[in-house]
Amino acid sequence: MKKVEVLAPAGNLPSLKAAVDNGADAVYFGFRNATNARNFEGLNFSEAEAAAGVRYAHERGARVNVVLNTYPQGDDSEIWYQTVDVAAHLQADAIILANISLLDYCHKRHPQLPIHLSVQASASNSEAINFYQRHFGCTRVVLPRVLTVQEIRQLRAKTTVELEVFAFGGLCVMAEGRCFLSSYTTGVSPNTEGVCSPARAVRFENRGDKLQTRLGGILIAEYEKGEEAAYPTICKGRFAAHEQVYHVMEEPGSLNILEMLDQVIESGVSSLKIEGRQRTKSYVATVTQVLRQAVDAYYADPRAFRPKGKWMRALNATSEGTTHTLGTYQENWQ
Ligand code: SF4
Repeated sequence: MKKVEVLAPAGNLPSLKAAVDNGADAVYFGFRNATNARNFEGLNFSEAEAAAGVRYAHERGARVNVVLNTYPQGDDSEIWYQTVDVAAHLQADAIILANISLLDYCHKRHPQLPIHLSVQASASNSEAINFYQRHFGCTRVVLPRVLTVQEIRQLRAKTTVELEVFAFGGLCVMAEGRCFLSSYTTGVSPNTEGVCSPARAVRFENRGDKLQTRLGGILIAEYEKGEEAAYPTICKGRFAAHEQVYHVMEEPGSLNILEMLDQVIESGVSSLKIEGRQRTKSYVATVTQVLRQAVDAYYADPRAFRPKGKWMRALNATSEGTTHTLGTYQENWQ
């Protein structure tokens, strides 16, 4: 059985090094522009940093996947095609794409560069996945966070494309690649500009003894004194509905599959992805290290695998919000 890959996020070069040093088999990063869906100020890589990152990873036996998973709009799309060329020139181990024209361009121009279909493409059934394989030679698909383990097992039987799934990190309510919620307050969305809540649209304001968070001027949440304020996104705002103020759409919380790690691995996935290119170097180091240890423990004795308390505590300390969840992996509606 081929060992499942631990795939870690890198929002900058120090995080990339932390991921590799803590046991990641592969890392993923994007460039400092709108071509990737984590286009936050101060984040991502220049071309020189990317080259240094690829070198650092390859010298230590780790692979590098370059992310280009937003959608060019109108005629202003040159930067997306140039970035595909840069990824090929860097000798990345794979490129992660969602847009059909970029898939076509990369497949024809750089046939040597393996293509992973981004979660932003929302391909969650075997017909869709096999279509991308047939037409663009995609070797892997990053599955949207909407499938049960049972459904992943069924997919595995119907495609030869490698399956990559999220194992840990922040959750959105959206079907990936389809969320335009933020456009109503900020004018941008992750699909087109790589970010739903850009820092320029965010305000933290003290009002009396309360703290308010705003996005594009719109009140997203109000916090009592001493309460930890979350970064404002519409989906995780506290709104007034049914005569209460609460998280109407989604409670902030993190996906954590450790309790089902054995089942997820046995469903036939090739890669366990950690979400969080926007998170700190220490987040990357901690989560990568825990996942590395957990995966190694599983392969040492699959039947005896149990998540250790110290792993859960370490991951809980890095979670977004106060809760963690198995997401849709645990649902048994099939
Ligand atoms: S608004 Fe919420 S659901 Fe939509 S992309 Fe942003 S974080 Fe995700």
